[in-house]
Amino acid sequence: MRKPFVAGNWKMNKTIAEARDLITKMSAELRVISDVEKVLCPPFMSLMDAFKLLEGSGIGLGAQNMHWEEKGAFTGEVSPAMVKELCGYVILGHSERRAYFGETDEIVNRKLISAQSIDLTPIVCVGETLDQYESKLTREVVSKQTSLSLRDVSPTFAPRIVVAYEPVWAIGTGKASNGEEANAVVKDVIRPALAELFGNETSQAIRVLYGGSVTSSNATEFFGQPDIDGALVGGASLKIDEFAAITKAAAQ
Ligand code: PEP
Repeated sequence: MRKPFVAGNWKMNKTIAEARDLITKMSAELRVISDVEKVLCPPFMSLMDAFKLLEGSGIGLGAQNMHWEEKGAFTGEVSPAMVKELCGYVILGHSERRAYFGETDEIVNRKLISAQSIDLTPIVCVGETLDQYESKLTREVVSKQTSLSLRDVSPTFAPRIVVAYEPVWAIGTGKASNGEEANAVVKDVIRPALAELFGNETSQAIRVLYGGSVTSSNATEFFGQPDIDGALVGGASLKIDEFAAITKAAAQ
């Protein structure tokens, strides 16, 4: 039985003051929703405030990225240990990091191995671009991303990993995939790639989310699919009513 999971990726939105306000209001709405693992991922600058504001709320805190090295001369970067002081989760390999910051599967994998060594729950993103989708390369691309990004992980840590299938063409575009199509990628591509890495039982235990223009109007279409265990939500996670409605839908 995989527990439903919903994470809100705020990306580079909200100043410190705005985030404080939003976290306070969001927490009041989300804390009463049970039977779903809930995680907020505000910008680094707001993690300290969020850590204090979310204490005892049952709402998890995640970073949107981290470096793989323990420490050193990496100007502008944040280490796994720094993230771990405040967060239980970290998003790795988001398509925006892959597209704008040159993150490859190898880099994502290094970060994942670091998350494992410091005991952070990783949310690992995979997904095809519009070109790849139109060229019918989805299965090949997503299979390769999954296999390479998650390799060399210990079988005992593997069930902790959360995978987010996020077709790049659906992210922030308002053009979500549809439930059946997304489920088919998870069932026929991601879970088999996970099974190859960790065995069938573990592949069935790993939570796989859908991400890409999820709203309160389309959430149930995804959550009703047998292989989709929740959502990684961008834009709608900045709106209290929307994110609360999505989280409630996941709990049901
Ligand atoms: C995301 O940032 O991971 C995402 C899915 O964004 P959006 O929900 O805005 O498409």
